[in-house]
Order: sequence, then C-alpha cells, then structure tokens
Amino acid sequence: MTQTIAFHTLGCKLNFAESSDLLRRFVNEGYKEVGFKDKADVYVINTCTVTQIAESKCRNAIRQAHHINPKAIIAVIGCFSQVNSKEIEKIEGVNIILGNDDKHLLIEKVKESEKRIINDEKHEIDNSVIDISSLKSFYSSYSSNDRTRAFLKVQDGCDYFCTYCEIPFARGRSRSCSIEEAVSDAKTLAKQGKKEIVITGVNIGDFGKERNETFLDLIKSLDKVEGIKRYRISSIEPDLLSKEIIDFCFSSRAFLPHFHIPLQSGSNKVLKTMKRRYLREEFEEKVNYIHELMPNCFIAADVMVGANDETEDEWLSSYKFLESLPLAFIHVFTYSQRPNTLANKIGEVIPVHLRRQRSEELQKLAYKKKEEFYKTNINYECKVLWEETKKDGKMYGFTNNYIRCQREYDSKYINTITTEKIIKLSKDKEYFIIENL
Ligand code: SF4
Repeated sequence: MTQTIAFHTLGCKLNFAESSDLLRRFVNEGYKEVGFKDKADVYVINTCTVTQIAESKCRNAIRQAHHINPKAIIAVIGCFSQVNSKEIEKIEGVNIILGNDDKHLLIEKVKESEKRIINDEKHEIDNSVIDISSLKSFYSSYSSNDRTRAFLKVQDGCDYFCTYCEIPFARGRSRSCSIEEAVSDAKTLAKQGKKEIVITGVNIGDFGKERNETFLDLIKSLDKVEGIKRYRISSIEPDLLSKEIIDFCFSSRAFLPHFHIPLQSGSNKVLKTMKRRYLREEFEEKVNYIHELMPNCFIAADVMVGANDETEDEWLSSYKFLESLPLAFIHVFTYSQRPNTLANKIGEVIPVHLRRQRSEELQKLAYKKKEEFYKTNINYECKVLWEETKKDGKMYGFTNNYIRCQREYDSKYINTITTEKIIKLSKDKEYFIIENL
C-alpha cells in the first residue's frame, strides 16, 4: 500500500530547498505527499531555532502530527534538532531526530522505523544528531515544487558568530558546493522550465572560500546558464557585498535589481556589541552606490531592535539613520536571548516592553518606506514573471525589482515574462495594477 508523507517546514529559504529536495526523493520512492493537516503515515518537521517563537512552533507541529495520527512515524530534523535533540526526545510520538549533517539519511531512517513497526519491535527514538564541531559535509539542494521559481542552496553554515546568533551552533562552519555543481543544478532547473532562481545559503557571500572560488565567480558562471531568465540573491552580508558584485549584477544578463542586506542596527555601538563586521557608514555607502546605479532597485534591510546596548540614544540614532536611507523595505526582528550565544554575557539588556515598542515603531517606518518606494515606480516599465496562483479570477507575478503585480487570469501567461507599465497601487496596497505594453 502507498505510504503517505507530510512535510512541515519552518524558517529560512534554505530549509525550504532542503525539504523540497527530501520530498522529491520520497516521491521517487513511491510515497504520496499529503497536507500536514491530513492523516499521514510519516510526518517530517524541518525545524528552526532562530527565535523562541520558532522553537515553540516546532513543538506545536510535533504535537499536532501525533494528535492527527498517533501511529505515524514522526521525524524531527534540522536546526532545533541540532541544538536541542534531548528536549525533542521528550516530546510524545517522536521516532526520528536528525540534525543538519544527516538530514540526507531521512529516507533510510524512515524505512528502518517502518521495519521496526512491521516487526512489532519496541518503540525506540532514533536520535542520530552529531556534535556540531564535526559537521563538515555540504549537501546540495534545490526546491522544485513551484513552477516558476526555485531556491538553489549554494552555501551552508557560518563562521561569523555574531553575538546574538545561534545559527553557527545549528548549521556549523561555512561550507559550500563548487561552482560546477551549482551550475549543474541551475541547468537541471532550466530543463524543468524554471525561469527564476533564488540563490540561498546562510552566509552566501562566503561562498567557495574553502576551495578558492568566490561568490562573484559563482554569479558570473550562473549568469551564463541558458533558460534561467532571472536570479535573485536571497541575502548577502554588507561586508561581503563588494562593489564588483553590485557592478556585475547591474551589467549582467539575468541578475535582478533586488538586494537584501542584513544591517541589524543603525547604531555603531550596537553593531560592535553584536560583533558585526562593518559600521553603518560602510552600509550607507553601499546602499547609496546601488541606488545611484539602479534607482528602481529594491533594497531591503534586516534590522533587529532591542539588542543589547541599544540605549534610548542609540535607538533614536539608529531610527534616524534608517529613515535617511533609500531602502524599499525593512524586515524588523525583535531581539530574543538565544542559548549558546555570547550576547547573554555582554552589553546592557533592554527591557522586553521597550523592544516591542521599538519593533512597532520600526514596522511603521518599514511600511512608509515601502509605500514611498512603490510611488517612485508609478509608470515604471518593467518585466513581470507571472505565477500559476489564481485568486478571484486574477493572477500575480513579481517585477524584476520585486514589486507584486496583478492581472486578469489567463493560463497562457503562467511562467512567462511580459513587459508592463506600473499604473497604480491596489486599494489594499498589496500589489500593483499594470498595463501590458
Ligand atoms: S552572519 Fe551573523 S547573523 Fe548571519 S548567520 Fe552568521 S552569525 Fe548569524
């Protein structure tokens, strides 16, 4: 009888690429995918540990799966498993726990569990999480469940150890695939008809350093892959976003005017406490350079509010700095203490109510910036890649500079790129009405 499997993925694009890759293998082995709210024989939860909220969502997902089918095999994999497998062992219904180095063993582990159930052997948890220090291998992954766009994993882990961040303890040291492997995956995705690739990793600017390859070399090679019309860089550290990379994206065939750059704070004092590798002036210089070169470029920044040493003065200075930048959007994160991190020992802790208050204030600025950016794009001639989603007789797509647009649904436009003029913002300010050129 066909076994059914359901995936629930939390966290970053990297996790989605890895889950999609694992699911593809199960389907190739004859498993049938069902929704996570449906009854399944196997449940896989690909976890995240970036915040306390992410971890509690993982626990809830495990309990939900066990509630729907108490006899199901439940596999808990990824970052939360890597940093806290002992806690996960205590949650009822868990059969398999895998960290970030042995996710690729998932199918074997599920088959072993199935055998144990068939042989009516005693339930035992298979916890194969290895110590983070021995996490050396890199597993390529790409997502393929979206007809239009794919996430391509090119790098994993991080050597930066910013004081607030737990990722190096969950994903290990920086490592990556070779340019040849990345180009081969991109060619596979082109053959599958994908038009857009989002290049992803943990600290992708550090790509290839273990084999004398660079991120600039990588994007130059990917730009030559026929069939892929568009590339987005998921996120790149300010100190690793060189002028050469910006210039190449500007003059390239397929790299889009869209940059996502984690700033984290607009205060140099807080950046030092975070042990970030740049000061705000360097960030400002790069953002202004991009804006001069590509005025319609979508520049987004990650900012964490309420981190240690963010006194009232530092907060106000940070806010004013962000207000002054030509950003299209700000992704706002509220600082939360993470186990293992240095931040628990250094700097002045900011009360939680102040963190929340600042998060609300910065969210407002983020939407104000987005609206301002949108307004500068009225009458902008752009290329839109149309997706297959149909809602209320409409279909949607993103412009090259990451603006969401809507048109009357017509299946002939799915996964095609058309030239459009941006006319006006929709009432709910969620997308643009366009005029086909
Ligand atoms: S660069 Fe810093 S914030 Fe980003 S993953 Fe590495 S340690 Fe975490």
